[in-house]
Amino acid sequence: RQITRDFYLGQEVVKVLKGIDLDIEKGEYVAFMGPSGSGKSTLMNLLGCLDTPTSGQYVLNGKDVSKMTDDELAEIRNKEIGFVFQTFNLLPRTTALDNVALPMIYAGASKAQRKERAEKVLFDVGLSDRMDHKPNQLSGGQRQRVAVGRALVNNPSIILADEPTGNLDSKTSVEIMNLFDEIHASGNTVILVTHEEEIARHANRIIRLRDGMIESDERKEVNLEVRS
Ligand code: ATP
Ligand code: MG
Repeated sequence: RQITRDFYLGQEVVKVLKGIDLDIEKGEYVAFMGPSGSGKSTLMNLLGCLDTPTSGQYVLNGKDVSKMTDDELAEIRNKEIGFVFQTFNLLPRTTALDNVALPMIYAGASKAQRKERAEKVLFDVGLSDRMDHKPNQLSGGQRQRVAVGRALVNNPSIILADEPTGNLDSKTSVEIMNLFDEIHASGNTVILVTHEEEIARHANRIIRLRDGMIESDERKEVNLEVRS
């Protein structure tokens, strides 16, 4: 609700988000677009509880995030949110399996539970045969699959992805987007940022930001199937 985010650079106040008023329903598939510097990542970080608004209210699953303590935020981040980054952000010396299992440590799962769940998730993202590989032994697309697996491992209610295909070639991008399509089809809320119209078309709703404000918010026409 009317979210703003200012950053303070020395004496200067930089107003990056200038009143974003937005409702996203459970199960939506949303793409944010907009020019570089329009505030997309800043907004994603707020949605992902990596950052808090300067003013305004952010309600996630009925809870007002803007009023939470750091501990409460950390718990929400771990349980409710899966974040995927353009640069994968995997631990370099750690296997795919352990990268995926990592968020479960903070969630308090046992070692056996972590292994079982991480294996299942890696299977789901198509990496059953790469569990013991380290990031530098994987292709870019495979690395991003590991990152998507890590985002999914605690069964979050929202998957956020900031330019998840930004470092991938177009064929690999399509594969990763097919994975997001599946994640959405299985009932998750998926919110991503992209510069490419082709990627954005996977979503059901495209929100364009310009200069810290919402410029447009369009839902895909749903082809209603008529059954007799
Ligand atoms: P891109 O498409 O290049 O990723 P973006 O839409 O994601 O751009 P943001 O990263 O949200 O843009 O940045 C929006 C504006 O906020 C930029 O002008 C940026 O310099 C500024 N900004 C972002 N983070 C900070 C910060 N921590 N301190 C000061 N200014 C910041
Ligand atoms: Mg960005």
